Amino acid sequence: MKVKAMELSDISKAFTQVRTKIDRVARSCNRPTEQITLIAVSKQQQKDRIDASLAAGHRVFGENRVQEAKKRWANRKYQYSELRLHLIGPLQSNKAADAVRLFDVIHTIDRPKIAIAIAKEAAQQNKNIQCFIQVNTGDEPQKSGISPRDLSSFVDFCREEVGLPIAGLMCIPPVDEEAAIHFGFLNTLASRNNLTGLSMGMSGDYEEAIRFGATHIRVGSALFGSRE
Ligand SMILES: *Cc1c(COP(=O)(O)O)cnc(C)c1O
Repeated sequence: MKVKAMELSDISKAFTQVRTKIDRVARSCNRPTEQITLIAVSKQQQKDRIDASLAAGHRVFGENRVQEAKKRWANRKYQYSELRLHLIGPLQSNKAADAVRLFDVIHTIDRPKIAIAIAKEAAQQNKNIQCFIQVNTGDEPQKSGISPRDLSSFVDFCREEVGLPIAGLMCIPPVDEEAAIHFGFLNTLASRNNLTGLSMGMSGDYEEAIRFGATHIRVGSALFGSRE
């Protein structure tokens, strides 16, 4: 999706517009709007944009890199106690300690090593962290996420062997395919595994994702404008 730069003063308007759309779509498919968490993806956005969105009252943000997020959010976390930070990018196990310390929700659990590292850190830090499993719904070779065919055994592994509670599933559909197909597929996979959380939908397709049951939408450029 092509997006233009946004004026600082437009940011609170953009949040209102996106919220209005969320409400409208939720109502059209008889879903309570409170069931849908809007994660404002602040990666690679200037600090004044983030501050403008905080001033507008938003408290739920997504970042894709642990180190970048730490620089930007470590202090703001003390300033804003209701802040909720979501990690939506790939995670290395050597960053697990920092990730657990900073984030409240991790969307990108996709292999045993990461599940084990996160569970261990969560126990050590005595932190209740919410986890989503990232699924490579298009089975793309270079992409993060567990293959759909390995999902059930991985869910069991996380729950039973690692003791890591799983809140739901996350996907990033292939760019050249109909996103709706992947949203529907992720929904089916979640039901099959008795999971209720669905992290799917970005600036270009979050309304479609809501129709397919998204509980967490990850929206960046539609709220903040284009990235640096
Ligand atoms: C960057 C990013 C987003 C937000 O993308 P926009 O198109 O700017 O809304 C959502 N999800 C993930 C995993 C991302 O990396």
